[in-house]
Amino acid sequence: MENIIKKIYSTYAESTGIGKVADYIAPLAKVSPSKYAISICTIEGQKINIGDYNEPFSIQSISKVFTLSMLAPLVGEEIWESVGKEPSGSAFNSLVQLEYEKGIPRNPFINAGALVITDKLAEKFPNLDASLLQYVRELAGEQNIHFNTDVANDEYATGERNKALAHMMKSFGNFKGKVSKVFRHYCNHCSIEMTTQQLAQAFTFLANRGINPLNGKTVISPRDAKRINSIMLTCGFYDESGDFAYRVGLPGKNGVGGGIVAIIPGKLAIAVWSPELNTHGNSCRGISTLADFTTELGISVF
Ligand code: GLU
Repeated sequence: MENIIKKIYSTYAESTGIGKVADYIAPLAKVSPSKYAISICTIEGQKINIGDYNEPFSIQSISKVFTLSMLAPLVGEEIWESVGKEPSGSAFNSLVQLEYEKGIPRNPFINAGALVITDKLAEKFPNLDASLLQYVRELAGEQNIHFNTDVANDEYATGERNKALAHMMKSFGNFKGKVSKVFRHYCNHCSIEMTTQQLAQAFTFLANRGINPLNGKTVISPRDAKRINSIMLTCGFYDESGDFAYRVGLPGKNGVGGGIVAIIPGKLAIAVWSPELNTHGNSCRGISTLADFTTELGISVF
């Protein structure tokens, strides 16, 4: 596996200029487009790292997997009355679909869906931001994971479309908390900075039937691990989810910071970071890296 990773890394090491670094959150625009890292963590604890794997970056929507898995054990089936589990086929921040579907977001990984999940978490955790950080740190087995307040403040100040999504859901009765308060949590969660090494480790519970291999603790039930992986496979890449499934064949989740994490159930988690994005908001080099990885390794979920 290490040789495959080295080969893929050298294939794409010079491949920049094909996409565009996210700039609608100002501090993200300052990140060098040439950053490139790949990290693998198996459920047995084997680690492979190459490139800028020690450099923390903004995980953005990858945080939506953490918030969903944090909520999952605390709620029953009624959660699926507030948020769906179907691919949206729309952009991550689309308002149109939400209007004609009466304020019920298609899935928990588009922005509207993640805002609903955050709203529900805020009802359950009086100190949600600290609780989420603690949750992520335990999954990663490291304490040095933090919010980036510049990134969070910028998104909070400029995220009018996300606020509109929350207000629209509130108008349909599908949002309980104060929009400003819940949106602040959402921005903080998206601003978490992690390295690919930490991300790969933190996602191993999803490859391990919900158990954190670092300490043997149950994070979520095997059923919820199956469900969250399924939603990642069908909805993890917004309106490019079908193409990602076709090319990579694994459940995964992107973030506009250029990160992607994917899971091979029963085996490993792999995280890639490369900030240049395609028009769907997904890392260009990240997708190519993962497509080559499953092809060369000959293993995917199919
Ligand atoms: N914080 C970003 C937003 O809400 C996350 C988008 C993403 O990573 O895809 O716009």
